[in-house]
Amino acid sequence: MGSFKLGAMTLGGLFKKPETIQYPAQTKPMPAGLKGHVVNDVETCILCSICAKRCPTSAIEVDKKGRTWAINRFRCVQCGSCVRECPKQCLTMDPHYASPATQMEPSVFDVPEHEKVQAEV
Ligand code: SF4
Ligand code: SF4
Repeated sequence: MGSFKLGAMTLGGLFKKPETIQYPAQTKPMPAGLKGHVVNDVETCILCSICAKRCPTSAIEVDKKGRTWAINRFRCVQCGSCVRECPKQCLTMDPHYASPATQMEPSVFDVPEHEKVQAEV
């Protein structure tokens, strides 16, 4: 590429609208078909680990003893396998962007003890 063409491109870039936005202060409309990110309704989760076993990227970690369910959003490829396989249907794909993070750490959620439902006599 000639230096004239390169200079013209650089100058042109100064007057063009920026390609990026100041996320999260500014947001763009969600594109059609956006899969979003995995959300767990921890009130329903039974910590069975099926989602973790089915995840092709090992993005989910279940700690039954510590009663936590964790997802590493930097590993998740939004395949939806965990959502399809969860026996309690507590996983869903939220078609919005996940909150921005400053560290590449998993998001950890506490799973409450579920009270056993007593059958009424
Ligand atoms: S498969 Fe569903 S119920 Fe089992 S640990 Fe995962 S989210 Fe919880
Ligand atoms: S959507 Fe796919 S990659 Fe993401 S956590 Fe679920 S199984 Fe893993």
